[in-house]
Amino acid sequence: MKCPVCKTIVLHSLPQDESPARLVCDSCGGQWIKSFQYWKWLKSHGENLPEKPVDEGAQLLVDDSAAAMLCPECGQILMRRRVGHGVDFRIDRCVACGGFWFDQHEWDILKSRNLHDDVHFIFSAAWEHRITQQERQEAQNRWLENAVGDQEMARVREFKKWLTAHPSRDVILAFLRDKDE
Ligand SMILES: [Zn+2]
Ligand SMILES: [Zn+2]
Repeated sequence: MKCPVCKTIVLHSLPQDESPARLVCDSCGGQWIKSFQYWKWLKSHGENLPEKPVDEGAQLLVDDSAAAMLCPECGQILMRRRVGHGVDFRIDRCVACGGFWFDQHEWDILKSRNLHDDVHFIFSAAWEHRITQQERQEAQNRWLENAVGDQEMARVREFKKWLTAHPSRDVILAFLRDKDE
């Protein structure tokens, strides 16, 4: 089986560890996980692990392969999906056999965030929908912070938290909106 990025380099097995069985390219460091190996591992892996926050101190650089790739197993096109959740690269999966391609460090980064047991979800419409929503929310927050300023924004958030929990919030909101008061 040959590397979908380097084309001529043959993939070889990595020593078995706590990750699914992986094939690696010695030239670009990319890794291939067969669909069957992923599901087998996921079954023995147990409960889905809770997502961990981004560790800014432990950032690995990823050279996300730019060109469209063909599956090293069956030759079909690999589809590409954004991971989101603070991860700025995309991962690839074969539309036919379901195998996964990770450019160098991508698997390790997902593992460090406990997103490695979610890679099959990343290719679902629900996942895509959720990260689009998150991005919209973040853009809105950035816009608001620009308009209001960092310090005032902290007060706005505190006020919103207080108001949301208040049993008479509708009355308070009506009062705030009333221009005659
Ligand atoms: Zn390669
Ligand atoms: Zn395939």
